Amino acid sequence: MEKRCSKCGETKPGEEFGTHPATRDKLGIWCRACRKAYRSARYHSMTPEQYTQTLFENNQRRADPKFRIQAAHAQRERRRNLTPEQHAKELETNRRYKKKLRDEAFTHYGNGILECLWCAEDDIEVLTLDHVDNDGKKHRRDEDNANGRYFYGYLKKHGWPKLPRLQLICTNCNIAKVKNNGVLPPWRKDKYRKSTNEILTFPLSDYAKKEIAHG
Ligand SMILES: [Zn+2]
Ligand SMILES: [Zn+2]
Repeated sequence: MEKRCSKCGETKPGEEFGTHPATRDKLGIWCRACRKAYRSARYHSMTPEQYTQTLFENNQRRADPKFRIQAAHAQRERRRNLTPEQHAKELETNRRYKKKLRDEAFTHYGNGILECLWCAEDDIEVLTLDHVDNDGKKHRRDEDNANGRYFYGYLKKHGWPKLPRLQLICTNCNIAKVKNNGVLPPWRKDKYRKSTNEILTFPLSDYAKKEIAHG
């Protein structure tokens, strides 16, 4: 499919045009070369302050729900036109990226130990980040994207924030915590800790010895 650029007037193949959600053929009306030249000229005509202001305004515009819906629609449209191989490749890339991001988040908030802080479950697929102070609802309400599939990306973007406090626990402990009024239940502590014996062989305090002696 060919298209005529409304800037330079040349007729070029469709690949020579960027996408645009609002046009009928979902392609921009200017060719890539014209857009690039225009952007470059605009950039060089601006002061650094003006440029920062433009970036800010563009971000504001992108945050508009209407724009987001349009962008999501364009993305879906683009995916629909992929070959099955391209589609599979893209899914695989996304999956790998998500996994890497998750592992990165877990490593940060688990302090390098990839297991449940409470029961020592070490199956990474059932681990999750838990709001220590049970302020997850507030966090999700106050911060855009601090939830769901954007959560790990949000954390990374904000440089792995210390607040709200997060801890790496398993989903079982997470559910048990909710049912136990937001407190990790003592009966699950060290449930799967293989090194329990090691912990018990640590030197015992006199107080602990007395406790054990009295059963
Ligand atoms: Zn052009
Ligand atoms: Zn656990």
